[in-house]
Amino acid sequence: MSTQKFVLAGVMGNPVAHSRSPVIHNHWIAQYHLKGSYVLLPVEPANLHDALKGLKALGFAGCNVTIPHKVEAMKAMDWLHPVAKQMGAINTIVVQPDGALHGFNNDGYGYIQCIKDSKPDWRADTGPITVLGAGGAARAIVLSLINEGAKEIRLLNRTKEKAQALADEFGSSVKVLNWSERNNALSNIAMLVNTTNQGMHGQPDLDIKLDDLPASALVSDAIYIPLETPLLVAAKARGNKTVNGLGMLLNQARPAFEAWYGVLPEITPELHKAIAATF
Ligand code: NAP
Repeated sequence: MSTQKFVLAGVMGNPVAHSRSPVIHNHWIAQYHLKGSYVLLPVEPANLHDALKGLKALGFAGCNVTIPHKVEAMKAMDWLHPVAKQMGAINTIVVQPDGALHGFNNDGYGYIQCIKDSKPDWRADTGPITVLGAGGAARAIVLSLINEGAKEIRLLNRTKEKAQALADEFGSSVKVLNWSERNNALSNIAMLVNTTNQGMHGQPDLDIKLDDLPASALVSDAIYIPLETPLLVAAKARGNKTVNGLGMLLNQARPAFEAWYGVLPEITPELHKAIAATF
């Protein structure tokens, strides 16, 4: 009989049924012939702290944390990775052998890695980067772009105050423009990033004209449902290189899986197929 331990992990959120994380992690558990399971953990906000305390008792190696718990869950951590502190949110918890809870945020890592996967010679400092949106995804992406050496980030959000708050926190490389200036904010840029929910399944298309976008600019969208948002379709039609949001989701999962299961997993065409089958 195998002595390999059965390792439990999961994703804690509310709602959480739509999460693709079980598909990703259970695919890797099977691929690497490990014993374990990755499950959905629907937890109401009022029960979050009790649920987190219960992870050790239930034998969990850890879990992912998603909306609306990413900020509140930080308070229950015994230790926070410096990047998680910088982000002000966690997306991964690793239960230590003594029961201590360690909090990480791999969203920014996942974003940068997915850009490098599709353009290995990509650098953050080759020209201005325009980022649309100032929510949770924007926070992770803007911070990781700065950490990668971005010199000028033009940040535009429908609610300007939220963009300004990020700029005030992240420093002088972030320049806030009005949402009404979004069409002109594309001139001379090396990269355009959509972190708004516009273009996501069930939402209207992102309202933007790409006329000023240089042909050399990389266009990325954090959205992965659909895989090709109307923004990416329009950019591709103009000849721009595009990167969809699935790579960010897959790459943020790799270090978490390694922490829980001891294997740094690969993103294979089979994994892409397994995810595509859920859309
Ligand atoms: P969020 O915190 O709720 O932020 C939503 C953003 O969309 C805000 O900037 C909001 O602007 C903007 N927005 C909403 N309605 C708008 C409209 N009608 N016109 C212009 N802007 C509008 O959400 P989030 O967590 O950042 O997620 C944003 C998107 O990223 C979602 O589609 C999500 O699926 C995706 N995402 C992907 C990954 C990944 O791994 N690929 C990870 C995280 C998120 P206001 O501030 O004005 O409301």
